[in-house]
Amino acid sequence: MADFSADVVIVGAGAAGAACAQELRARGFGGSVVLVGREPDLPYSRPLVSKDYLSGAVGREATRLRSAAEWDADEIELLTRVSVMKLDPEARTVKLSDKRECSYDKLLLATGANVRRLRVPGSDLDGIHYLRALANADAVRADAQTAEHVVLVGGSFVACEVAATLTAIGKRCTMVMTEELPLSDVAGTQAGWFFARALQERGIETITSDSLERFEAAPVAEGQARARVGAVVTASGREIPADMVVMGTGAVPDVMLARSAKLALGETGGVACARSLETSAPGVWAAGDVCEFDSVPHGRALRIEHWDVAEAQGRAVAAAMLGAGGDFTCVPYFWSDLSDWCKLEYVGVAEGWDREVLRGSLEDGAFSIFYFDQGVLRGCLAVNRPDDLNHARRLLAAGGGLRGPVDALAGLTTDLSGL
Ligand SMILES: Cc1cc2nc3c(=O)[nH]c(=O)nc-3n(C[C@H](O)[C@H](O)[C@H](O)COP(=O)(O)OP(=O)(O)OC[C@H]3O[C@@H](n4cnc5c(N)ncnc54)[C@H](O)[C@@H]3O)c2cc1C
Repeated sequence: MADFSADVVIVGAGAAGAACAQELRARGFGGSVVLVGREPDLPYSRPLVSKDYLSGAVGREATRLRSAAEWDADEIELLTRVSVMKLDPEARTVKLSDKRECSYDKLLLATGANVRRLRVPGSDLDGIHYLRALANADAVRADAQTAEHVVLVGGSFVACEVAATLTAIGKRCTMVMTEELPLSDVAGTQAGWFFARALQERGIETITSDSLERFEAAPVAEGQARARVGAVVTASGREIPADMVVMGTGAVPDVMLARSAKLALGETGGVACARSLETSAPGVWAAGDVCEFDSVPHGRALRIEHWDVAEAQGRAVAAAMLGAGGDFTCVPYFWSDLSDWCKLEYVGVAEGWDREVLRGSLEDGAFSIFYFDQGVLRGCLAVNRPDDLNHARRLLAAGGGLRGPVDALAGLTTDLSGL
């Protein structure tokens, strides 16, 4: 006999879990909802971890999605600092880290992702940070108080954002990346050129097409218990002095619970879901970074690490739990801020495009890039051109086919609503 029961159990109190809980109530669901999160904080905005929370521009309270009183008013039982240790989809029970067992009728698995850790010589030295949660940002901020020179490993969003944030608060930053240009893996070389210039203009050194080989320890000071990082050594043999290091080396879906519950996993490593986001176990759905879904517009399995997608999936699961679900068909949206220097927005998913069409001017910092694969629009990146993004979203929702030649997009006089 379980210690207690809930109509809905949500595992993971991040973007997807919180959105699902709220949507259940917004749709008038009156049953019991338990939202379990292993972090000590109330559900918060994770994107702030590398931006305004890291810089100190906003405090912990401002990161919260809602206050404790609002969760209470919705009668959502929010268990913080509690982990789900075991999921039994057949018995429909979960075991919690506080030793209690809870039976459920329906369950959402929204366990998110964990940082991808690189195991290289020296990786256990002090002063090497990864960034996922508020507590990680606290540790980076505390270390940055005495550090002058910070090395960022990685050339994607988290590394670029952290370099921008720490530079804006007066730190000297060097980035080491395997990419040819910052963000070029996800946005191509034209956009990469623009972001490289934006970072370099603010004094950030970028070491590109190179990779991390090992960390060297700094000389141990008197009374110091543990050795600290003192330098980053790259595969090409460069030795970059570092008072601290922040790793922006990606994330892997947290499928520990799913795997032990024998849920089917997909080719991206996420939990394999049907178009309705239901997993291989009846009554168990997945959403957010952990979820691999069969995307209707893309015609293939996708796993997306975007805040808005996680929220949209959480809401879609709430609808499905109440019998009002359908295929998950949203056009993915992502944004990123490099301090207050530049905001980029992205719609769609452009993995493996064969053509880029630039609209606007990279030099002026007002441009959009449309990514095509075999003549079909797959994604669009925009900096200071929000209208272009809206048109791209509309075109993507309609399947990405264009009437007329794709080159027409480049002309600023072309009316995109006619495409
Ligand atoms: C530093 C950083 C900056 C980002 N910036 C942006 C941005 O600018 N724009 C954007 O679109 N996206 C951004 N993202 C990505 C975005 O935050 C994620 O896509 C989103 O948070 C995913 O939501 P989620 O609910 O799937 O997972 P998460 O937000 O990771 O939440 C999952 C939660 O589940 C908990 N959990 C895991 N296992 C268990 C368990 N067994 N029991 C209980 N709890 C468990 C975890 O501790 C975690 O709190 C950023 C991510 C990071 C790390």
